[in-house]
Order: sequence, then structure tokens, then C-alpha cells
Amino acid sequence: MKIQNYINGEFANPVLDNWIDNYNPSKGEVYGQIPNSTIEDVENAYLAAENAFASWSQTTLATRSKILSKIADLIRTKVTFLAEAESKDNGKPISLAKAIDIPRAAANFQFYANAITQFSSEAHESVGLNAINFTLREPIGVVGCISPWNLPLYLFTWKIAPAIAAGNCVVAKPSEITPLTSYLLGEICTEAGLPKGVLNIVHGLGTSAGQAIVAHPKIKAISFTGGTKTGAHIAKVAAPMFKKLSLELGGKNPNIIFADCDYEKMLTTTVRSSFANQGQICLCGSRIFVEESIFEKFKRDFIKKVSELKVGNPSESDTNIGALVSKEHLEKVKSYIDIAENEGGEILFGGNKLTVKDSENGYFLEPTIIEVSSNKCKLNQEEIFGPVVTLMSFKSDKEALELANDTKYGLSATVWTNNLNRTMQFSKQLKTGIVWVNTWMMRDLRTPFGGQKASGIGREGGFEALRFFTEQKNICLQY
Ligand code: NAD
Repeated sequence: MKIQNYINGEFANPVLDNWIDNYNPSKGEVYGQIPNSTIEDVENAYLAAENAFASWSQTTLATRSKILSKIADLIRTKVTFLAEAESKDNGKPISLAKAIDIPRAAANFQFYANAITQFSSEAHESVGLNAINFTLREPIGVVGCISPWNLPLYLFTWKIAPAIAAGNCVVAKPSEITPLTSYLLGEICTEAGLPKGVLNIVHGLGTSAGQAIVAHPKIKAISFTGGTKTGAHIAKVAAPMFKKLSLELGGKNPNIIFADCDYEKMLTTTVRSSFANQGQICLCGSRIFVEESIFEKFKRDFIKKVSELKVGNPSESDTNIGALVSKEHLEKVKSYIDIAENEGGEILFGGNKLTVKDSENGYFLEPTIIEVSSNKCKLNQEEIFGPVVTLMSFKSDKEALELANDTKYGLSATVWTNNLNRTMQFSKQLKTGIVWVNTWMMRDLRTPFGGQKASGIGREGGFEALRFFTEQKNICLQY
């Protein structure tokens, strides 16, 4: 299967006719090619976007809303087809893609179809001076959206939907590791009546196609989700051109469990927050801190529940954990398990690669639990981004808070407690962009989403994303 770029509403081969192999991670085999796009392809995408902007930026909000709703409808009607494609490309269970990834991609378009009709600008009356200020919010022009492989269509559309709702035209690049559903999105957009050139999708490597988008002098804003190192590089390239930047980066999220929590709910949710999507969600709680008085009980119960998870073929409906996204990523995750003992850690469960029936060459790994004695080790400081969690006990609230904040990252944190005072203390003092109390990954799309510290700058979601994708202009009028 050959995936093509989607430029000016048409599918096109890369200008230099260069291709990259695309893998099915659960089979460990190549199943197609994607364009190895270069600066020429990005330029073609830019020109199409620029050309479309004059008219798209002037479409009524009702028209934009209708087209976005139609895209959402079409995604919904193709949920099984898209979920199978996502699973084939990423290795995640089809059941997960069907329940989470694809419905959320539809929800992203539906949300911004509605939100754009409610988005408003401000007016300030300068009382006594016979003047009024009103602030326009205008689309920026051509913007770049770059996304990672872990939630492919979900995160790709989370950027594209607000960008086009706000009247911009987009040059977008999905991860080269998971390009399939974004390729299929092109067809959906055409079918929904999105005018040519409003969305252009260029496939290829980050260092060539991605870099060309970021370095393009006329692409005025970049919305990026991916690794912290890549984010830092993008900031360096974009800053001298004064581009607007939204960077959603890595995490090393604490999951803090107190003895007074609702234990069963905590246990079930902690299994999910540790291993959902093979632990490859930026929000996964990879550092589990447990109050000393329940540490041994938690350890036993958690190991038991994790041992019941089925690692298997992503197409089987009872599979809980599918394949990791690539061989390189599997080796990276495994390398952390291999240093566990040297770091003073003890592997309590898992730790091994697995062979799965009918998928013998797939990139499978057991869910892995490692007890550590210090938060200073690499296992607790570096983002592993796989089915690996560490456990550590704590004695006091103060110690738990210090451990939680002792990382360069600041994306999310989860706290399990029924103590109101403690809830407020932690909510206020955790240095993260998101705090969940007695729940995990519960999302209301109106809320700001993003991280502090090395987890990024800017917030996505709700009106924040529409603000990001618009330029403000204040008009002061005296009468
Ligand atoms: P990555 O940084 O390697 O790649 C992300 C995207 O950037 C890909 O499309 C890639 O091709 C592109 N890219 C790479 N180099 C580039 C460059 N020089 N210029 C422009 N684009 C470039 O990340 P990944 O491995 O695909 O994804 C995993 C990372 O994403 C993890 O660190 C994870 O925490 C993070 N993530 C963060 C969030 C969040 O919301 N904060 C969500 C999901 C994933």
C-alpha cells in the first residue's frame, strides 16, 4: 500500500519520488510505503494553503461549523475501518482505538464545529473619553501542525480542527511511524466538502519534512506535540522568526496514592493509567508513590491485577496490551528494564519481550513493574513511554509532594485521597498543568490542556486553542 501526500485536495506522490517503509508493529513487517517528503513537497503544500486562505478566512462561521460537523460525522460512520487502520499502524488493540482514539478524533471536529460559533472577542469602553476599543481575532494565515505516533488521529485532529475552525489553512505532518489514519483523513475532508488547500498533509521524516514546515518563513505558527528534545529544537528554529508556538511535550507523571482513598477504584484506574495504550500515553502515571501503610497490600494487589492483563494480538477483542509502536521503541523501553537492577531497582513483574501467537515477529513486551528505592534514578527521571511503571513508598504528605515535583517534567499528576485539605494542598502545590484527583484521563474538551516545565508551553483545548490560532488586533475608536 502506498500512502500519498494530500495537497490542494489531491493525493500526490512526493516530488523526488522517495519513499519510506511503513511497518505493522504487531507483525514486525513492512506493509506499505509513505512519501519521504522534502522541502519541495512542503512548499507545494504551503502554496496550496496560501492560495486557499483568502477565501477560507472569509467563510462564515456557520459554513465552517457545518463542514467540521460533517467531517466528525464521517469519522463516526467509519469508526471500525479507522480503528482497524490505527491498530495496524500503531500496534494498539483495535478495541482501544474503537473506544478511544477514533471517537475522540470525531469529537475534536465536533467540539470545534460548535466552539467556533461561540467564540467571541472583547470590547472595552474607555468611559469618560468617548472611546471604545474592540479587539478582533483574525486567523493567522498558514499554520503548521506536527503530531506524534502514540494517539495518531486523535492528536493530529486535536490541532487541525481548531486551526481550520479559526479560519487558518494548514500544512500538517503526522508521525512517519503512524501515517495511515491521517492519510485516510484526506479522503474524509474531501468528502465533507472542505475546500481544496485548507488542509494539506505532508508525510515524511521529522528531520526533513517536519523541519521544512518549522523553518518555512511564511508558516506563522507551529502547534507541535512530541518529545521534549524535539520541542526544544523546534523552539530554537522558530523563535528567530517570531512564530507563535504551542509545544506539548513529554511527561513523567506521578500517581500519588494515600491510604484513605477509595481503594478498588484506585486499583482499577491505576492499572489503566499505567498500561493503557501500552503505557504510551503522555499522561500515563509512570511513577507510582504509595503511602507506607498500604504499600505491601497495594504491591500484592497491583501485581495480581497486572498479571491478569492479556498481552496479545491487537485484533483479538480480549487483548488489553498490544504491540509497542516500533522495534526501535521496544529496544529503548527494554533498555530501561535492563538497567533496573544497576539502579537499585527490583523487577516485581514482567520485564521480558513476548512472542504472541500469529504475530511472532511483533514488538510485544510484558507490562513491567519495578520497585525503586530512590526518585533520583534514571527510571524515575527519564521518560520511558512504554508499559513500565515504578513503585516507591512514602511516609508523609511532604515527602510525597517533594517526590512528585522532583522531575524536570510537569505534565500531569494523579492524587488518590478522600481528604479535602490534602486534595487542595496537592492541587495547588503540584507543578503540573493537569491534576486529577480520584480519577485519571477524564477529559472535558473545554479545559486547558498542557504542561509546565519541560512538558511544554501553551495550552490546547477549549477556547485556548482558538486563541492560539488567531492574531489579536485592538481597534480604538473615538466618537
Ligand atoms: P518526536 O518528537 O520524535 O516526533 C513528534 C513529531 O515531530 C513527528 O511527527 C516527527 O516526525 C516530528 N519531528 C521530529 N523531528 C522534527 C524536527 N526537527 N522538526 C519538525 N518536526 C520534527 O516524538 P514521538 O516519538 O513521535 O512521540 C513521543 C513523544 O511525544 C513523547 O515524549 C510523549 O510524551 C510526547 N507526547 C506528548 C503529548 C502531550 O500532549 N504533551 C501527547 C502525546 C505525546
